[in-house]
Amino acid sequence: MSTTPPLLGQSYDELSYWLSTQGEPPYRAKQLHQWLYTRNLQSLDEVTVFSKRWREANAKVKVGRSQVLQRTPSPDGTVKYLLGLADGENIETVGIPTARRLTVCVSSQVGCPMACTFCATGKSGFARNLQIHEILDQVLTVQADFGRRVSHIVFMGMGEPLLNLKNLHTSVERINEDIGISARNITISTVGVKGRIRALGQYRLQTTLAVSLHAPNPDLRLQLIPSAQHYPLDELLAECKEYMELTSRRFTFEYTLLKDVNDQDFHARELAQRVRGFQCHVNLIPYNPVAGLDYKRPTPPRVQAFLAVLEAYRVQASVRQTRGSAEAAACGQLRRQILTTAIN
Ligand code: SAH
Repeated sequence: MSTTPPLLGQSYDELSYWLSTQGEPPYRAKQLHQWLYTRNLQSLDEVTVFSKRWREANAKVKVGRSQVLQRTPSPDGTVKYLLGLADGENIETVGIPTARRLTVCVSSQVGCPMACTFCATGKSGFARNLQIHEILDQVLTVQADFGRRVSHIVFMGMGEPLLNLKNLHTSVERINEDIGISARNITISTVGVKGRIRALGQYRLQTTLAVSLHAPNPDLRLQLIPSAQHYPLDELLAECKEYMELTSRRFTFEYTLLKDVNDQDFHARELAQRVRGFQCHVNLIPYNPVAGLDYKRPTPPRVQAFLAVLEAYRVQASVRQTRGSAEAAACGQLRRQILTTAIN
């Protein structure tokens, strides 16, 4: 067994050092780095500029790429991928194109332990954190499949990114420095984990933070988000304030609209009061129905009415467009389908 970690995830300096220990000249590091981060390298056999002897000597070194098990395109151009990891686990990633952008919705964990009551990923349980190469692979897979540079990253796939903070941080660094995507175009979405928003702030990244609020008061939030029991709304908001002061970055509150649960005008008024004083944007997400769950999506007029109340209170807000086929738009559904099929 080779003890060399997967090459994907290593910085230019780390690759240089590794190659120098094998007596390779410095320009080899540049070549390998390029193959790895911009030329979709799958295995070291492909690096034909390196000698056959070198490739044979390193035959056991892993690049760290995952396998595309399923590719599901939607009519709007969105493509959802089910990726197979080396240990047999599966994750989802999504490529979302517009004329000017290619966004990848990246997973940070296999499953998720937060168990938010409306979320498909939460229903399938939690297996483990993703490793750095498994996070980066998602970006490179989408980039290669679309044949187009990825411009934006959202950590809104499976998992709670702040529970995988160290790998998240290194991945953001690699995405920024090595894949070449501006940190300002990277959004990290979290439901909130005690102390971790502050810890993220201390990295002083230029990334955008999105905090999943989903409710304007502690009682309703607790109904939707079991982890709120250990991390009440007031504490979460206090940490968000600290983050804001530490980083001077504006951030987004996400609010998934669930019919007759949190979508009424009085909820909007309460929400507007709750976020007063924050330099924030509120992103409303009309619920994407999940098979087996009772939550429903509000009608478009209800969504617009909710938005109008926020605007009347001068809260900056917008409605997120649903991309991908409606029935599969919610992340976590592919893996869940696979798991359910495997169980039944
Ligand atoms: N764990 C992260 C990322 C989750 S996905 C977080 O909690 O922020 C990004 C957003 O979509 C979150 O706000 C999440 O609560 C929300 N979401 C999850 N399932 C959804 C669904 N079926 N419909 C609409 N929004 C959903």
